[in-house]
Amino acid sequence: MFNRSRRNLARWFTLSMGSILAVFAGTLYYQEAIKQLEVIDLLLYKKARVIAGNVQYKMQQGQMRVFIKNVPLLGSNPPPPDSEIIYARWYDAKGKLKQFFGVPPQEHLSKTFEFQTIKTTNYLISSSSPVIWLRQITLPVQYRGQLIGYLQMAIPMTRAQESLSKFLLLLVLTVLMALGVTSLTGWFLGGLAMQPIRYSYEQLQRFTANASHELRAPLAAILSNAQVGLLANIDDADSKHLRLEKIAEVAKSMNTLIGNLLFLARQVGRLAPESLHETDLNDLLRELIGSQTTRIAAQHLDFKSDLPEQPIVLKVDSELLYQAVMNLLSNACKYTPAGGLVNLRLFTEYHRVVIQVEDNGIGIPAADLPHIFEWFYRVDKQRTRAAGGFGLGLAIAQQIIEAHGGHLSVKSELGQGSLFQIELPLNQ
Ligand code: ADP
Repeated sequence: MFNRSRRNLARWFTLSMGSILAVFAGTLYYQEAIKQLEVIDLLLYKKARVIAGNVQYKMQQGQMRVFIKNVPLLGSNPPPPDSEIIYARWYDAKGKLKQFFGVPPQEHLSKTFEFQTIKTTNYLISSSSPVIWLRQITLPVQYRGQLIGYLQMAIPMTRAQESLSKFLLLLVLTVLMALGVTSLTGWFLGGLAMQPIRYSYEQLQRFTANASHELRAPLAAILSNAQVGLLANIDDADSKHLRLEKIAEVAKSMNTLIGNLLFLARQVGRLAPESLHETDLNDLLRELIGSQTTRIAAQHLDFKSDLPEQPIVLKVDSELLYQAVMNLLSNACKYTPAGGLVNLRLFTEYHRVVIQVEDNGIGIPAADLPHIFEWFYRVDKQRTRAAGGFGLGLAIAQQIIEAHGGHLSVKSELGQGSLFQIELPLNQ
């Protein structure tokens, strides 16, 4: 699926870039052709002017007459060297043919443009190519403002054609090479574009597999307890009560899991400003410590808190922040053996508020550290499941902190302990 999309992206990218390149190359070719034509026309015009300069118009037997005796090609004068002229014709002012050199022309000058491109067969000129293109000029010749005749002549466009063919070949090769590079770039960019989609897709797949796995285990427990309860003697109230208790306990943990999942699904992106209220973080953390003292005492943990004297007021969603710190604190308690130390700190630093939860418990292996904020990730599956964890607590804490525009980070060493740090911007 991803490869097909990647191929499609690369194909469309190459196609669109290819069309742009083709249009660009076409324009360049057109410009070059016009330039070449202008060069030929200028050359042809100059040649025609030189030849027409030899036409004489003078009085003979009381009448003004045109003399082309001295005109190169048409008269007795030799043609200019390297003239390349294929044919030359002289028509009088009425358009009647008077003299010609080269290919026999029409008797009368047909109405024609000053410059014209003419396609002709080669047998008149050379035997190498079957078709040849000529550029023809029809120059009206005047004497003191009076039209005395027309000079028509043509030269071959072979050289311009050759240079245009070379230019075209160069353009085609360049476009083909550029297309090759574009398709490779398209493939590479397609791969880059696919990466986040592939990542989300894999994450979704992992999530679905994990969620179904996590839900299946308690459902199986509910089912087996219900079946054992049903099989028990009808008068055995104790056994039935025990089963019902187990079912209620498992259903409660399912409820927590579903609640956590719903929270993660709903709470995406930054929090709306109306849900943020000015809260003294000192008060919030004191309340949290109060709710945890019995647990800390029961686990025989040493607990220390470093809270500042003065209030630290910040615009937060107090319930959510309470939940985030609670997750970190209960993890610290969960993963610190009896006799260990858990420390909670609150202080301000530069433009941020920092909350630290530190313990000297079991720590996290370096290989697991990059993954512990992922959904359902647990370092020791057996152990954490026994401790009642689904591997969602840190993901929820991270999502809450990021929703406040903050950052949650961790430093940990296996066997030494862990330090979780929440950073919140002061002026949000
Ligand atoms: P859980 O609900 O399973 O504790 P969390 O998302 O809160 O899930 O934590 C993910 C994993 O990170 C835990 O399974 C645990 O292995 C590890 N972990 C989290 N906090 C600590 C800690 N303070 N000390 C050691 N390991 C921890």
